Amino acid sequence: METPTKTCQSCKQEFAIAAEDFDFYKKMDVPPPTWCPECRWHRRMAWRNERALHRRKSDATGKDIVSIFRPDSLMKVYEHEAFYSDNWDPLSYGADYNFSRPFFAQFRDLMLRVPTIALFDSKSTNTSYCNVVVEHKNCYLSSAAWNNEDCMYMNRTAFNKNCMDLYISGRNQFSYENLYCEDSYRLFYSHTCGSCNDSYFLYDCRGCSDCFGCTGLRNKKYHIFNQPYAKEEYLEKLKEFDLGDWNVVQDVKRRVAELRLKTIHRYADIYQSTNAVGDHIHNARNAYHCFDFLSGAENVKYASWSNGEFKDSYDTGPGTGGNSELLYDGVSVGVQNSRCMFDCVVWYSNDVRYSLNCQSSNNLFGCASMRSKSHCILNKQYSKEEYEALVPKIIEHMNAMPYVDKKDRTYKYGEFFPPEFSPFPYNDTVGLDYMPLTEGEAAALGYNWAPPAARSYRPTVKPENLPAKIGDVPGSITNEVIGCAHGGTCHDECTIAFRITPDELQFYRKMNIPLPRLCFNCRHWDRLRQRNPMRLWERTCQCGGVASERDVYRNSSTHPHHGAEHCPNTFQTTFAPERQEIVYCEECYNAEIV
Ligand SMILES: [Zn+2]
Ligand SMILES: [Zn+2]
Ligand SMILES: [Zn+2]
Ligand SMILES: [Zn+2]
Repeated sequence: METPTKTCQSCKQEFAIAAEDFDFYKKMDVPPPTWCPECRWHRRMAWRNERALHRRKSDATGKDIVSIFRPDSLMKVYEHEAFYSDNWDPLSYGADYNFSRPFFAQFRDLMLRVPTIALFDSKSTNTSYCNVVVEHKNCYLSSAAWNNEDCMYMNRTAFNKNCMDLYISGRNQFSYENLYCEDSYRLFYSHTCGSCNDSYFLYDCRGCSDCFGCTGLRNKKYHIFNQPYAKEEYLEKLKEFDLGDWNVVQDVKRRVAELRLKTIHRYADIYQSTNAVGDHIHNARNAYHCFDFLSGAENVKYASWSNGEFKDSYDTGPGTGGNSELLYDGVSVGVQNSRCMFDCVVWYSNDVRYSLNCQSSNNLFGCASMRSKSHCILNKQYSKEEYEALVPKIIEHMNAMPYVDKKDRTYKYGEFFPPEFSPFPYNDTVGLDYMPLTEGEAAALGYNWAPPAARSYRPTVKPENLPAKIGDVPGSITNEVIGCAHGGTCHDECTIAFRITPDELQFYRKMNIPLPRLCFNCRHWDRLRQRNPMRLWERTCQCGGVASERDVYRNSSTHPHHGAEHCPNTFQTTFAPERQEIVYCEECYNAEIV
């Protein structure tokens, strides 16, 4: 009988394995994990660079290209056209399996030998500087996304059109600077909203239109700072805010931030779900420790950033789902995948294990950069019968001769790739965004690190000298290099300077949006700081009966379940106990927000 707790190979802390987890491991025919859930997150994140871009030479053509692989990376990096050309064959890099060396060491050799793509993209047209994107059209400087069209500066988004600067948002049109917003049209500067149109600065609103600076509204029209107006009054009042003026936008943002602290917050953004624990989970059943699941999940654990239907999977993402099932311990694995395990960047595939950057394939083991292939091991072609006979022998060999990394951690069959083999320094990966480690912590845990990329831009315009109003911006702005207001002094991967493209300027003018003062990365970190961490705290509802704790919020109704007494309900929330926001349980929240 298996013991329910184990000591993590990496952090040496005890962790529990739930009874139903053993059923899942049995179904997938894998041993139980030897790393705790948090260390497993770290390990996968170390293999996902979403946004850190570097200039380097193409190993195919010698051209100057932009890539997620640094110029000193040992990876062989081809630009999109060269990678997807017929001039080279990944099978020509194949090798026989060597039963006298650990599997992971052989995989690493292959990974460094076979060309990879500068920026991971697939089935996309006319995209520039887009990474880990699938089915994109006319997009610019976006990442971690599925099926966007005419969009710029997006991260973790899907099915949007004509949008800019969105983060974790789906099915929006003509929208700007939102996070966690869905199914909206002309929505700006908003957070956690659904089906809201022609509105600005909303937080936690659903089904609203023509609203401005509001929080916690449902199906409302013509509200400003939560006050109702007649239509004509609303339109008149709105004229007081010149939204094309950068200073006005900053003022309203400050006012809205204060308002948000006076309102109540739902313990989690979980809707239309049963038995779900985590945050930002919609339409899910049995989802545990899941984050950023905006469109469906069933029987999923320890997973993050998913779009589209997703079921029966553990330990996947960031970047997963997309009409997939039976996935385990993979990163950037989604979009019509089935039975894939221990993979990094695998799309449209079945039965692929221990592979990197493969698509539209099935029955691969330890392969790299394969497309439309089947029954291959270490990029060598086998017959179906040979493949089925050899894979069990390799698994047996992986267990008999495991790889041992520089921190003395053992990698048998059932472990994800060692972090020391990652082609990215941890500080170029999403680990920095979601599970930050210091350089010292990274070194102690055996993760790679590199100095920040050198930036040599010379701004031609200082941000403080930009016209405040979009109406005053000359067309020649697209020729300038604008200094980021942070000037590289922040810890936000500041690129020091940025440009405005002609399409971008057109968008700002059409939407009456002032020019940004921050570079793309600093804007991203601004949004990142508005989201809660991917951690859960067990807390008690802060409803005190007639008012919230600290009397920040007066209840508008009597909550039948506890009258004037403090609510006893507990929940798991991403709001840390020391946070200022008032957090209510579902019952108390629903009694207030109708
Ligand atoms: Zn651990
Ligand atoms: Zn910056
Ligand atoms: Zn409550
Ligand atoms: Zn209550």
